[in-house]
Amino acid sequence: MIYKSRSESAELLILDSLNKRMSLTEKDKQHYLVLRKGYEGEVLFDSMTEKLECDCLILNDLLLRINHTIFQIDALMITFDTMYLFEVKNYEGDFYYEDDKLYLANKTEVTNPINQLRRSETLLRQLLQSLGDHTPIQGKVIFINPEFTLFQAPLNKPFILPTQVNRFLKRINSNPSKLNRKHRILAEKLTSLHLTESPYQQLPSYSYDDVQKGIICDRCQSFEVFVEGKRCICGDCGGEEKLSEALLRTIEVFKLLFPERKINTNEFYNWCNEVVSKERIRRFLRKNLNMVGIHQWAFFE
Ligand SMILES: [Zn+2]
Repeated sequence: MIYKSRSESAELLILDSLNKRMSLTEKDKQHYLVLRKGYEGEVLFDSMTEKLECDCLILNDLLLRINHTIFQIDALMITFDTMYLFEVKNYEGDFYYEDDKLYLANKTEVTNPINQLRRSETLLRQLLQSLGDHTPIQGKVIFINPEFTLFQAPLNKPFILPTQVNRFLKRINSNPSKLNRKHRILAEKLTSLHLTESPYQQLPSYSYDDVQKGIICDRCQSFEVFVEGKRCICGDCGGEEKLSEALLRTIEVFKLLFPERKINTNEFYNWCNEVVSKERIRRFLRKNLNMVGIHQWAFFE
């Protein structure tokens, strides 16, 4: 069962919003697309592990620290006698393996995920030992994309290729052993050690003036949205949404991008590109956020 679920990182959410609201540099855009693709691969793997019926605890997306060193785990699976550590890669296309290196078909070398896997394994082992646990760890690189091919794939490496993932999980699923209290305590401990703020975030610098204001259509990402009664209608695709829902989404993006800015009626009115009346903005904020202070100094949290 899924003990800790995965959600999009703040970094990915911010890049996602910035990508819609400003033009990213080629480098930032590339970084965003790599993160997005990686996340989609992880979600695909989650959709397979969540179907497992054997007694196991799955902890998705852990950021842990041991002796001032931080490491990230895509997915960890606690079974009766083994802890599986998964590094999930959503690589797509033809690759080949040579002298412990991984290359694209055009001979460009890409990061060999084994190095990352080994590092995480070592650090996890140290962390478990510090918690008095000595469960053996099995690290695997999961190549999840069905369009991934690895030529000259070595037999002695911990790779699970796309055509093997199902069988690999089936084998784990056939383990009849039941977990006990010790396993659950360990899962709880590891989850409690999860760090929420990643030190690896690579975000472009941006300011309030850089980003496009407005409500974005949930269906087609257009800014051509207008309000009619209690609904928000997209002038491009005709999609309709409850105004209250569109405003909630829009304020979440505002808080995510500008956590230091105080929210008041004028500010949010401006953020919505003035397509919603101030009176409605005021009512929305009163209903959904907490007001701090009074009169013209009031703001919302
Ligand atoms: Zn639309």
